[in-house]
Amino acid sequence: MIGIMIIAGMIYFDYCANTPASDVVLKTFAECEREYIGNANSEHQAGRRSLSRIQDDTKKIADLLKVRPEEIIYTSGATEANNLAVLGTAEFNRHKGKHIISTFLEHSSVSAALSHLQSQGYEIDLCPMRRNGQIDLEELNDLMRDDTVLVAVNAVDSELGIVQPLKEINTIVHNHGSLLHIDATQAVGKIPFDFQVGDTISFAPHKFYGLNGIGVLVKREDILLAPQMHGGQSLTPYRSGTPATGLIGSIVPALQDALDHLDAHAAIVHHLNQELRNGFHDIPALSINSTADSIPYILNIGIRGIRGVEMQKLLDQKGICVSVKSACSSDLLPSKAVFTVTGNRKRSYESFRISLSHLTTEDEIQTLIDAVHAIVKEKNI
Ligand code: PLP
Repeated sequence: MIGIMIIAGMIYFDYCANTPASDVVLKTFAECEREYIGNANSEHQAGRRSLSRIQDDTKKIADLLKVRPEEIIYTSGATEANNLAVLGTAEFNRHKGKHIISTFLEHSSVSAALSHLQSQGYEIDLCPMRRNGQIDLEELNDLMRDDTVLVAVNAVDSELGIVQPLKEINTIVHNHGSLLHIDATQAVGKIPFDFQVGDTISFAPHKFYGLNGIGVLVKREDILLAPQMHGGQSLTPYRSGTPATGLIGSIVPALQDALDHLDAHAAIVHHLNQELRNGFHDIPALSINSTADSIPYILNIGIRGIRGVEMQKLLDQKGICVSVKSACSSDLLPSKAVFTVTGNRKRSYESFRISLSHLTTEDEIQTLIDAVHAIVKEKNI
């Protein structure tokens, strides 16, 4: 059950940026923080007790993800998990090569880490995409080189919600002896996800009714990374610091609940997505940027003649929260993701994202449809 504080006059359509923590998540967190007071790195009873709780929870998380507990690294969120995977893989393998392949659809926590590597002399290629927003596999194969140390792709991008063909990408990457990092932040908890499909995989529970401040990097045991945080050994050699007992504990109910209801929640959201599309059908100036390969949780649209940032402001004035690109990118730049898929520069400035939840109500959907119609009318578009 989710205990959302209904904030008067506010309708939320930004669930891909953050979700409200569920009651069981908050309860588990509070219980852990009260009952496990020791630092899990400490060599005394209280420390050992906390460590034991973390080990039990890590085993449960590993079972839910169908990986081994040793493969789990806790971070502060998906941004840190992506940085650790990308920078850590590049640094550890720098003697093998300095070529990395990624895409135009990555979250800034991957693309900015790659820009940093570029400034250090790494060569970054962005793989051309097909018009449906999926990686062109032939182009990927052609881009692979002997010195390609890493391919970094998302499972589902945060702006358009396009699902990538990860199995095929994995085969190409491994045929060339390279490593695959997958940013699964918008996939885990929303669609079935196979953790065997990458070498390092990141996600964050705050995207599926868990808490902010914790992220996960699943790393195959035989892969080595250069740690990016220096401060001594903790749960793993890859991430120093006092282990966050309560935050780790809170992942278990969040993940359990999301996986138990994966199909049921997706069915509700699919229906809501369809209602939105039907409601927008009679607005000729409105185009849908999400493709047939997008998850139903994300509907990226644009209205001809209104910039996404302006649309966000106009809807906000009517009490409705939507997003322009992802929460961590600059709103003033056009959307690279929308440009990649539409090939249309104007549309890449006009796009905005509606993200849905199984908690979204039919009334909220209707209010959004009415608001968009009203804005189009007011603007005489
Ligand atoms: N990767 C993707 C695809 C995202 O959508 C996000 C957040 O929106 C992140 C990474 C960063 O996640 P966090 O806020 O947990 O650092």
